[in-house]
Amino acid sequence: MRNDPVQAQIARQLSAEPKLVTYLFTKAGVRKVPLSGTFELTPRCNFNCKMCYVHLSKEEQEARGRELTAAEWIALGEECSKQGMLFLLLTGGEPLIRPDFREIYLGLKKLGLILSINTNGSLIDDEMIEFLKANPPYKLNITLYGSSPEVYNEVNGNPAAFEKTYRAIKALKEAGLAVKLNCSTTQYNRDDVGNIYNLAADLNIHTQIAEYMFPPMRISAESAGKAVRLSAKEAGREMFLNIKRRSYDEKLYLMRLRKVASGIKVIDEDAECLDVPTAETLTATEHIRCRAGSCAFWVSWDGKLSPCGMMVEPSCSITELGFAEAWERVCEATRAIMMPPKCTNCDKRFACVVCAASTYCETGCFGKDEPTYICEMIEEYLRIVHEEYERLLKEGAYEDILKEEAEAREKALAAAEAQAKPEAEGKKE
Ligand code: SF4
Ligand code: SF4
Repeated sequence: MRNDPVQAQIARQLSAEPKLVTYLFTKAGVRKVPLSGTFELTPRCNFNCKMCYVHLSKEEQEARGRELTAAEWIALGEECSKQGMLFLLLTGGEPLIRPDFREIYLGLKKLGLILSINTNGSLIDDEMIEFLKANPPYKLNITLYGSSPEVYNEVNGNPAAFEKTYRAIKALKEAGLAVKLNCSTTQYNRDDVGNIYNLAADLNIHTQIAEYMFPPMRISAESAGKAVRLSAKEAGREMFLNIKRRSYDEKLYLMRLRKVASGIKVIDEDAECLDVPTAETLTATEHIRCRAGSCAFWVSWDGKLSPCGMMVEPSCSITELGFAEAWERVCEATRAIMMPPKCTNCDKRFACVVCAASTYCETGCFGKDEPTYICEMIEEYLRIVHEEYERLLKEGAYEDILKEEAEAREKALAAAEAQAKPEAEGKKE
C-alpha cells in the first residue's frame, strides 16, 4: 500500500456519508420524500470522452430540446425544497460550461440547500476558486481521467486539460474546500488507475473508482448492452484490484478479501447508490432497492424527471406537470419496477453491482433477462477473489489475524464466565 494509512483513512471517512444522513434517507425513503436531487444543467461538455452516457454537442442538444434557463432551475429548486429536498447535486455534461453557472449556484444556495458539484475540473481557474471559497459547496466531485496529458488525450481528446485539472485540484484542496476524485476505468486508462490513486494519495484526497460502465441508453436506444468499456472479465479483474486500492492498510485488505470469499457483502463507503430498506425491498419478488424514485431523483437538462440519471424511463416532464405531480408519478412507476428473477435468486448477489438501471441499460427492459455482461464480470471477480484468498491463506498471511481473533474469543469467553460465576453463586444463596 502506498498511501499513508492514517491520512487515507481520514480522507476516506470524510468522504463517507454521515450516519445522520443515512438515517434521513431511510426515513425519506419510507415516506417518499424527495430528499436528494440532481440537476443536470447541460449535456454539453468541453471534453469528448468516448464512454460518456450524456454528452451532446451544442448542435445535437439544440436539435433535441432546450436547456432550462437559470431562472427555471432556481424556481425548480424552490419547488423541490418545499417538497423536502435538502441535498442537491449539480452536474452535466460539464456544468461549469454554462456562463450562468454562478447565477444558478447562488440562487440555489440562497434556498439553504446542501450543494455538491460534479465537474471535470478543467474550467476551474483562480477566479472560480475565489468564488467557491466565498460560497463553498458541501463537496466538489472532480473526475480525474488519468495521471498525464497522454492518458487525457486517449480518454477525452484534451491533453492540455490534465495540467489545468491537476492545478485546480491542488488549489481547491489548499483553499480548504472538500474535494473528492472520481475515476472511470476504461481500456484507455486502465493501466493508469494505480497512478491516479497515488497522485490523489499524495494530495490526501479520496478517490472513487468505477469499474462498471453503463451502456449509454440516454444517447441512443440502440446502445442496450453496448458500451465503450473493458470486457466483462477485465472489469471483474478491476473490481478485484479495487478491493486493495480501497483498503487503506494490508489488514483491512485481508479482512475484506476474506469477507467476499466467505459470501459476505462488503459495505462500500464510496457507494453513491445506497439501498433503502423498506417493506417493499424485502419482499420475495424483488423491487428496486436503492434510493432512486423513493427519496432521490434526477432532472435532465431539458426538464425530465426520472428516478436516476442512468434511467431513460420512467420519466415525466416537470415543465408540463410541475415537480410535485411528476414526482408522484415517477415514484409510482418506480415501485412497479422488478429485478430479473435470476438476480432475485442469485447466490452471487451479495457481491454484484446489478441494479434496476443497469438491467435496463444492459438488456433494454426491466425485470426480464439478467444482464449477462454483469454476470460474467461478477463471476470473474469472485473467481479471482477465491484464488487470491486461498493463496494468501496457504502462505500464512492470515496467521496474525486468526491469532488475534482466537485471543479475542478467549478473552470474551473468560469475561462471560467471570460474569456468570457471581450470578450463579448469588442464585445458590
Ligand atoms: S437505479 Fe442503479 S444507478 Fe440508479 S440510483 Fe439506483 S442503484 Fe444507482
Ligand atoms: S447480474 Fe448476474 S451475477 Fe448479478 S445478481 Fe443478477 S444473475 Fe446474479
